[in-house]
Amino acid sequence: METLSHQILIEDLQVDGYERVVKCFDPETKLEAIIAIHNTKLGPALGGTRIYPYANFESALFDVLRLSKGMTYKSALAGLGLGGGKSVIIANSKTDKTPEMMRAFGRFVEALNGKYICAEDYGCTSEDVGIIQTETKHVVGVDGSRGSGNPSPYTAWGVFRGIQATVNTLFGDDSVEGKTVAIQGLGAVGKALAEHLFWHGAQLIVADIDPEVTEWAKLKLSAKVVPTDEILFVECDILAPCALGGIINSDTIPRLRCKAIAGGANNQLLNEQDGQSLFDRNILYAPDFVINAGGVINAEFDLHPEGHIPAVARNKVENIYNVIKSIYHIAEKNEMTTFNAAVSLAEDRIKKLPLS
Ligand code: NAD
Repeated sequence: METLSHQILIEDLQVDGYERVVKCFDPETKLEAIIAIHNTKLGPALGGTRIYPYANFESALFDVLRLSKGMTYKSALAGLGLGGGKSVIIANSKTDKTPEMMRAFGRFVEALNGKYICAEDYGCTSEDVGIIQTETKHVVGVDGSRGSGNPSPYTAWGVFRGIQATVNTLFGDDSVEGKTVAIQGLGAVGKALAEHLFWHGAQLIVADIDPEVTEWAKLKLSAKVVPTDEILFVECDILAPCALGGIINSDTIPRLRCKAIAGGANNQLLNEQDGQSLFDRNILYAPDFVINAGGVINAEFDLHPEGHIPAVARNKVENIYNVIKSIYHIAEKNEMTTFNAAVSLAEDRIKKLPLS
């Protein structure tokens, strides 16, 4: 156990397969956080900071381990010189979060000497990362004239291009015109995705727990609104999960009526076996850590000496189309699931690099 200034206590946890997992507690600000560094072979571990009122420490640890491993694969397949990491703060972002807590978290990040770089995520805004930045330079996604800012428009654009790659594989060309896309969740990513799809002629079916946003989609995008417990099971060409993780599982897979799943949510499969069940049902799956990489591709520009240049970042996000197509190709050629194809491609890329 190590004590930082202001009595922040940090403790290493031994977790097989992870380079470093550290928990932190600051009695003064009530900060309770975990940083997981999964793999840094390709570069420092970049991943967002999730602020969530986890029921207990174990569920926070489970989440941060799973998410940090996903970041390793995401950055490897996006061709970034980055490794995989993630952090969680066990707190309610609406009622518990304070600027002092964010500053204490910044000191925790600083203590890892740049091995981990944080960014915004669920419950952590670009204003929050701006506060964290007052204590550490190991932050991306800060708003400002040269900063990459909100990643969501780039994530949504990458998901849209991934949907086009999926449509191409299913129907032979990129056009989404007349295709039915069901979107679960119209938040920062889902709403921007819905607009791209609308302007390219797709028919939308949407659901969200927020009736205001579904009413907007009905009025402005001619979307059909369905209850949240029905969206996964509507008949459609593409199902685009853009809200929660774990929604593709042994309970939901038998009831799906889509030809493909391609959406922005993290950790869509509850477990790896669900990739096989989708394969058995002939449902094409765009691995989430590939299709939703637009945000991290964009944020990485904050680490470049020339800073964030929107048009260059957008063009790099475009490559998600090609990566999705090559994963579908590898999966078909090797008669394997698209999830396994993406993981093995990522692991190959990591292994091919000489150890530093
Ligand atoms: P967000 O919080 O802005 O939006 C989530 C939306 O889902 C909200 O509108 C919410 O009301 C809705 N929702 C919650 N529960 C629902 C339910 N049961 N049914 C239908 N809708 C429900 O989040 P976001 O930034 O849009 O991210 C969405 C997903 O994409 C998350 O899984 C996130 O981890 C992932 N992701 C986001 C980014 C990014 O750049 N924002 C990058 C990569 C991955």
